[in-house]
Amino acid sequence: MLSFGKIKRFSALTLLSVSALPMVAAVSAASANAAEEVNIYSARQAFLIKPMLKAFTDETGIKVNVIFAKKGLIERIENEGQNTNADLFLTPDIGPIYDIVNKGLTQAVDSPVLEKNIPSQYRDPDDQWFGLTTRSRIIYTSKERVKEGEIKTYEDLADPKWKGKVCTRSGKHTYNLSLVGSMIATHGEAEAEKWLEGVKANLARKPQGNDRAQVKAVKEGVCDVALGNSYYFGKMITNAKKPEQIGWAQSVNLLFPNQADRGAHMGISGVVLTKHSKNKDNAIKLMEFLSGPMAQYMYAQENFEFPVRPGTPKSSLLDQYMGDFKADDMSLATIAANRSKASKLVDKVGFDN
Ligand code: FE
Repeated sequence: MLSFGKIKRFSALTLLSVSALPMVAAVSAASANAAEEVNIYSARQAFLIKPMLKAFTDETGIKVNVIFAKKGLIERIENEGQNTNADLFLTPDIGPIYDIVNKGLTQAVDSPVLEKNIPSQYRDPDDQWFGLTTRSRIIYTSKERVKEGEIKTYEDLADPKWKGKVCTRSGKHTYNLSLVGSMIATHGEAEAEKWLEGVKANLARKPQGNDRAQVKAVKEGVCDVALGNSYYFGKMITNAKKPEQIGWAQSVNLLFPNQADRGAHMGISGVVLTKHSKNKDNAIKLMEFLSGPMAQYMYAQENFEFPVRPGTPKSSLLDQYMGDFKADDMSLATIAANRSKASKLVDKVGFDN
């Protein structure tokens, strides 16, 4: 829509010479942009991405609408078919990305900006999906009961020495399926199965709760070591609304596994462009913005995730607790390709029973 100010400018320009005409066209294009939008279906909680989306709208004038749901969005996009409003689908893990791409509901994005901002292991070789942040699946260890160096690797979690001392959420949760997928890619299926059986034998309790609940269990003495994503530490240690979580976080050390060999397992949150996107140009602009310096900085400072974009400073708060660490550079595509095998292994060893 033309604003009053722009109409006035428009009239003034038309009174000038013919050479002013291209400028008139430019003014019209800019004002048309102001009414444009991007629609996101997000499996990532909306509050986590709102600050970045606001920064995008402030910079471009493009409105961003978000529909958030933990589950069911891929099915919704599938059912809506060509009529879907979704331009982008955002997810907190490679699992849903893999599912939506396999259903043929995405399209490739050929963008030099995305290619430059996102290292190759964190995006699809066929350009169907892009990682926006990374996180490590780390081992939280009890400050009181676990000495430094006592546990060093994911493989150690299967050592009988930890019998009755390991906590984790369900083996079928997408974060754990990716970890098991990485174990399969590293060691082969037979070895990974043995490992998973060993971890199961060491569990302090039946898998339950979310990642934070495992840290709480360490604090309460239910277990000594627990699997969890790295950013939850930042979320807990700064949790003014639920200050008990500060105590949970204070009870643990953070162990980035496998520093002497392949490095710590990394997950991503990511984005895809839907096949039937109606606002494709704006959607790609938003993807590029989210991979750019400002949004990447915000992801790190506000969400305690690791930026994908090389050179982006890490969270200053997290720097006090976690220094530099070695990340496994296994491609997420490889991990994703092993997820269905991982899921079968989890069932086979009865991990959750
Ligand atoms: Fe999470």
